[in-house]
Amino acid sequence: MNAFEASGLGKRYGSTWALRECTLAVPRDHVVALVGPNGAGKTTLLHSIVGLCQPATGQVTVLHGIPAGSPEALERVAFVAQNAPLHQHLTVAAMIELSCALNEGFDRSMAERRLRSLKIPFRRRVGRLSGGQQAQLALSLALGRRPDLLVLDEPLAPLDPLARHEFMSQVMEEVAERGLSIVFSSHVVSELKEVADYLVVLSEGRVQLSGEIDRLLAAHSSWSGSAAKVEAIQAVVPVVQVERADRYARLLVRAPAGEAPPGWDANPVTIEDLVLAYLRSPDIQVVTSPLALAGADPTKWPS
Ligand code: ATP
Repeated sequence: MNAFEASGLGKRYGSTWALRECTLAVPRDHVVALVGPNGAGKTTLLHSIVGLCQPATGQVTVLHGIPAGSPEALERVAFVAQNAPLHQHLTVAAMIELSCALNEGFDRSMAERRLRSLKIPFRRRVGRLSGGQQAQLALSLALGRRPDLLVLDEPLAPLDPLARHEFMSQVMEEVAERGLSIVFSSHVVSELKEVADYLVVLSEGRVQLSGEIDRLLAAHSSWSGSAAKVEAIQAVVPVVQVERADRYARLLVRAPAGEAPPGWDANPVTIEDLVLAYLRSPDIQVVTSPLALAGADPTKWPS
């Protein structure tokens, strides 16, 4: 079962392709982090998933085959847009009323319980809440709709590190309790492993890397050794990034640490190493399936 699936997805604004040939399938019941530099197409992809933008090419389905934006998809997918856009002049209580009026089956008691536990004052106007409280209110209202897929555009941006941690642990609790699928975009790369178990890297409108974080980390490693051997190694394994210093080089390779050539140090990579290496090398090919993560063939090592 897929949370969402894009096939040949393209979106153009005038002469700018915001997304190009995006093909990926993300299984259900994951917390998916969507990362990429400014302008990479993250918001456009999220808007395509929730049916807010019409693709120029290809298609997107959610929850195993439902066309994005169709009435059934709208019923089962909730979206919190960037900067938690809420009616600033309304009170929290009025926002809850509005959500009840607009969404049949809105789980009012769950939303209220959640907001109470976060000590968010019901009589305060939304515009007077802190950025973190507004993000929590937007999340509570989205969860009150009992979606099967929750889409969040940069939910962590207005939050301090502690609030980010609390916000995402609340999200993870919902995932564990309800089997909900979540996709969120973020620039906070260092904390991704704590809050997500699936990664999609977008670069210049294309999917560069996608997969379960544990599998991606196990399939990559960092090798250090003689700079003179770099070209020979590049001929054998996919090298994502090369850093040189005098006679030494450090490579981030798409191969497990155990496959490093004789005489080279091999170390595991962090999620931050991995994401930054791909972002620095936007031409590295798309990886969409675990099979495409095959490592080196050690019989081909140069002597
Ligand atoms: P950021 O991290 O800065 O929020 P993003 O990865 O979410 O960026 P998008 O907002 O999807 O990127 O934008 C992708 C590209 O499409 C950018 O080049 C942007 O300028 C362009 N774009 C997005 N929306 C529009 C629009 N309504 N009109 C024209 N160009 C647009």
